[in-house]
Amino acid sequence: MSGTPLIRNAGSSDPGLKRSVNEDSILLHEDHGFWLVADGMGGHERGDVASQAAVAGFAACSLPADFESAVQEVANRFYQINHQLWEAGDPASAAHMGTTAVALLIRDKRFAVLWVGDSRAYIFRSGGLFQLSTDHTQVQELVDEGILTQEDARNHPMSHVLSRALGVAPAVQVDIVQDQLEVGDRFLLCSDGLTGPVDDNQIRILLGNPDPHAAARSLIAAAHDAGAPDNVSVIIVDALPPTGGF
Ligand code: CA
Repeated sequence: MSGTPLIRNAGSSDPGLKRSVNEDSILLHEDHGFWLVADGMGGHERGDVASQAAVAGFAACSLPADFESAVQEVANRFYQINHQLWEAGDPASAAHMGTTAVALLIRDKRFAVLWVGDSRAYIFRSGGLFQLSTDHTQVQELVDEGILTQEDARNHPMSHVLSRALGVAPAVQVDIVQDQLEVGDRFLLCSDGLTGPVDDNQIRILLGNPDPHAAARSLIAAAHDAGAPDNVSVIIVDALPPTGGF
C-alpha cells in the first residue's frame, strides 16, 4: 500500500527476579498493525489468566483496514474483554480477575493508543521520549488534581494501586490518544515491571539503540539490574520509511 510505513517490531515478556509466575502477556500482531501489553493484577486471583484472556481477545481477530473503524473495534473489544472477565469472576468473592491493557494500532500514517490501567505507551521521536498514556492509578489522579507532584507519585507507597482495570467492574472507560505517524517513530509498550525500577531517562537512553531486539533486551536487563521485583514486558515498534517515500 503506497505510503504505508514498513513496520519492524520486537517484544519480550520476562518473569523478573522475584516472581515465579509471569502474569504479563504480550501480543505482536504485526500483520494487523496491532500490539498489546497486558499485566494481570497481582493480589487478584489468576492474574495470568486475565492477561492471557486480553491477548486472546485480539489474537484471533482481524481488525478493519480503515483507521477510525479499527480504533472503534479495538475499544469495543476492550469492553467485551472487561465484560467477559467480570462475568467469569466469583460473585461470592471480592477477588475478580483483572488486567491492565495498553494497545497500539497503526494504519497508514496514523496511530492510536488505547489503554486501561498503568501499563504504558511511549513514543520515542527525534531522540526524545514522550509518554502517550496516563496511568490509571489512584496516585496519578491525585497528581492530576494537583494534590501530589509527579515526584511524590513516583515514590508513593500506593503508587501501583489502580483506579481502572479490565475485569474488576461491570463497566470500564477506555482512554484513547491518536496522532499522525512520522518516519522514524519508535513506540514502546511496557508493563510497570519496567517503569517501576527503570526511570524514563534510562529508558530513553536504551531506546537509542537502533536494533529493536537489542533495545528490548537492554530494557529487560536494566530492570534485572534494578532487582526486577515484578514481571517485565516490553514491545518496541518502529515505523520505517516505505520504499518510494513516506
Ligand atoms: Ca506488574
